[in-house]
Amino acid sequence: MRKKIVAGNWKMNLDYAEGISLFSEIVNMVKDEKKGDQLAVICAPYIHLNSLAKLGGDVVGIGAENCHEKESGAYTGEISAKMIKSVGCGYVIVGHSERRQYFGESDQLLAQKTVAVLQNDLTPIFCIGETLEERNNGSYFEVLKSQLENGIFGLSAADFSKVVIAYEPVWAIGTGLTASSDQAQEVHAFIRKEIAAKYDQATADNTSILYGGSCNPKNAAELFAQNDIDGGLIGGASLKSRDFVDIVKTFN
Ligand code: PEP
Repeated sequence: MRKKIVAGNWKMNLDYAEGISLFSEIVNMVKDEKKGDQLAVICAPYIHLNSLAKLGGDVVGIGAENCHEKESGAYTGEISAKMIKSVGCGYVIVGHSERRQYFGESDQLLAQKTVAVLQNDLTPIFCIGETLEERNNGSYFEVLKSQLENGIFGLSAADFSKVVIAYEPVWAIGTGLTASSDQAQEVHAFIRKEIAAKYDQATADNTSILYGGSCNPKNAAELFAQNDIDGGLIGGASLKSRDFVDIVKTFN
């Protein structure tokens, strides 16, 4: 059975005290709500990770928003997956569209980052998604397929089985525009079909595929009710404890 996951992505928000305060609220609310194999995760800026893991990493999984592909060395300002693991994290977002767009991260680089994450026993939340132009000109299936092929389809079946995928249409991130549940389901089913073709049906059935893009407490229930949507990657709404926990509760 694949896991149901609601993962927050704080992005470059919240100073240290604000992060501690928000996370404490989330932990307090989530500990009474979480059921079975459903997971709540918060991905936060590096400065927060050590404290968040200590404060409630047993209730809410902790993840980084990025990592460097190398383990150590002369890469001033960078953070490796090994370092992230050492502070008690379980997850790393890889290939968020903001990393692809603003920092020029290519599928090839993201493939290396995914390997580094897996080598350190962390779960990659690997993001794919099309731009508005690609949606409108009908090339989105090709775009998504190539992001999968070049980013994560080089992994062995054993490694691939540890990956979580997030489908995040770029046009829906932080814009207030949400993919309709039909649009999202269509893409999630496509991704699962591609996984089955590359690996096998059991691997496809066991892969958690999250939706991201202006997901909020009002639209989460309809999105998460779709057959192939296994939860969400939540940006803006993860900065409000009530909204984030209401999205987590959608699975109850
Ligand atoms: C994201 O950044 O991953 C995201 C989905 O953002 P938002 O929910 O704000 O659209």
